[in-house]
Amino acid sequence: MKLLRFGPVGQEAPGLQLAENRRIDARGFGSDWNEEFFANDGLERLAHWAATHAAAAPTLAPETRLGACIARPSKIICIGLNYRDHAAETHAKLPVEPVIFFKSTTALCGPDDPVVIPLGGTKLDWEVELAVVMGRTARHVNESDALAHVAGYCLHNDYSERAFQLEHCGQWVKGKSCDTFAPLGPFLATRDEVPDPQALELWLRVNGVEQQRSNTREMSFGVASLVSYISHFMTLLPGDVISTGTPAGVGLAKDPPQYLQAGDLVELGIDKLGRSQQRVVPHPDMR
Ligand code: ZN
Repeated sequence: MKLLRFGPVGQEAPGLQLAENRRIDARGFGSDWNEEFFANDGLERLAHWAATHAAAAPTLAPETRLGACIARPSKIICIGLNYRDHAAETHAKLPVEPVIFFKSTTALCGPDDPVVIPLGGTKLDWEVELAVVMGRTARHVNESDALAHVAGYCLHNDYSERAFQLEHCGQWVKGKSCDTFAPLGPFLATRDEVPDPQALELWLRVNGVEQQRSNTREMSFGVASLVSYISHFMTLLPGDVISTGTPAGVGLAKDPPQYLQAGDLVELGIDKLGRSQQRVVPHPDMR
């Protein structure tokens, strides 16, 4: 199944994508795609509901705004320097254990929403990533059991303000957490739709020019390894998001660096997980 959310900002409702051009309103199911949904066998119940109700459910108009494909989770955990080529381009050593950092959950937004240059920001950068959504609570899980705790996968652009991230002391979270820095979707594809999360091509273009293209097989630590590793440091709750790192080709690594400007268009995609696009806009106080 492909789960999505639609409607105005802050009032998103649950939906499903049944085919490339058929998205339906799934409010009839009676629950948002949130922690409680995932924790209470929601995917199984939804599959039953869809089998009998999807055909008659209202179709969404093509221009309907999509929100983040899941409701706000308890946390978004990101992995740093997880692709060999990206570590090399940023002149960082490939970490011997996963580097993890947080991204605020208020950064979440719809897949095609504009990305807002934060107040005082000058170094807005892109990062196409495979995001993992947890389906079950995970504590100290083994790598061999890890994927059974995953609900599915979605496309994420881990937007970063490099000056906030790297020039303000302390942790990367400052440069990762601004509003609109986590467009998630268009949809959450359940695990059965992605039999091998380590065999997905991913790409990103800026103003039509390809900047990133790689494959999730190039990850240093794969999805199962990451879920297991993180679960030894914190409890992963149903609906939590793990963003698994970005391949080479970010703006920071260019010589000279290339950062996004108001008016730029960023487009990205991953095999089986669709595509998204964000137009760069100035902060409302700067317009
Ligand atoms: Zn990232």
